[in-house]
Amino acid sequence: MKRTWHLLAGGAALAIAALGWGAAAQEAPATYIHAGKLLADPASGRVLERQTIVVRDGKVAEIRAGFVGEGDVVDLADSFVLPGLIDSHVHICHENGPNDKLRRTVQTAADLAIDGARYARITLDAGFTTVADMGEENDAIFALRDGIAAGKVPGPRIVAAGNALSPHGGAGDPAGYRPDVGHLVRRPSLCSGGDDCRRVTRETIHRGADMIKIVATGSVLADQASGLGQQFADDEIKAIVDAAHALGRRVTAHAHNAAAMNAFLGAGGDSVEHGTNLDAETVKLFKANNAWLIPTLLAGDTVTRWGNDPQSFLSPAVRAKALEAGPRMLQSAAFAHKHGVRIAFGTDASVSKHGENAREFSLLVRAGLTPLEAIRAATVNAADHLGLLSTIGSLAPGKAADIVAVRGDPLTDVTTLQHVGFVMKGGTIYKK
Ligand SMILES: [Zn+2]
Repeated sequence: MKRTWHLLAGGAALAIAALGWGAAAQEAPATYIHAGKLLADPASGRVLERQTIVVRDGKVAEIRAGFVGEGDVVDLADSFVLPGLIDSHVHICHENGPNDKLRRTVQTAADLAIDGARYARITLDAGFTTVADMGEENDAIFALRDGIAAGKVPGPRIVAAGNALSPHGGAGDPAGYRPDVGHLVRRPSLCSGGDDCRRVTRETIHRGADMIKIVATGSVLADQASGLGQQFADDEIKAIVDAAHALGRRVTAHAHNAAAMNAFLGAGGDSVEHGTNLDAETVKLFKANNAWLIPTLLAGDTVTRWGNDPQSFLSPAVRAKALEAGPRMLQSAAFAHKHGVRIAFGTDASVSKHGENAREFSLLVRAGLTPLEAIRAATVNAADHLGLLSTIGSLAPGKAADIVAVRGDPLTDVTTLQHVGFVMKGGTIYKK
């Protein structure tokens, strides 16, 4: 406690100073957010009217009934206020397009980080105060994550997987280059065999990964006619999951195929990205592991549109996969939700444009989630999935002051979340 009391004379003044002035001297100044409607905890779903969120030191200090406080007051009396949104699946340093193959040969990790800073700002302005990056060059994404955390550049807090693990020749191994050029764009996260995959898992964590992402099956946008089936062998999957868990990291799998998902969840995997073509056995395993599904319906919607557009940039191999997986993703998510699989919000932004992440909400509703369930997916569920439930996902004393606001009621119309008008992250206002 700051000792200002010795300047004062008299016992009464001393007591007042110790209790009042002394306490005031150590407290950081507060910001008072007047929320017309407040969904502080999407888990409960309770909406309160005319509430004040007191923000201090980047955190929620308290939530009080009525509009209180003076000085630094943010007037959101005409808005619906909720916790900052979380996208559990983005690739923040690039957007996919016709120049992907050339881009890999000209863009350095530094260039990726610069682009990432631009997309991070766009994503934050859209109301997403936390994202998980599910596969990007280690040097680029770790620098961006750390730069944002240190306040050097504005952006959402980032949970980063670094380079995604893929088998040699698999969907994470860029194809179609001359061999003497191709080796330059191959990533250090390729592995074959259990021992090698254990080694690469440990190297990726040592380099800075918060989570491990594996490319368990073929992928739509990999320019390969290798289908969407399982690519990592069961023993490789098991080796990766065990090595990651031993080092305290969760593992998530990109998967479009039930056999691969079942092998992965059977090996103890924590979550599945896309989940296309999951089956009743997969649902059982999801529940046994308490695992999360991240349906990325916006990616499915985007590649379906590209697949049906004869003018789009897709190669014949990619077009076939887009039309196979794209339309199935919504059905798979609907099936999983109907059978009680836990869902966390993720878009795969980079396939769709950064900043349009909130379009996922209406797709989740189309898959059968209520608007409140869709909001839970992007708040408490995503926070839980990423291991951050103690700091983000809801607004309560001690949690990060990650706060967004929209006009209208997202519980009746989730598309209002596509027009976030106010963004605070860690107590700092980024959009007003
Ligand atoms: Zn992805």
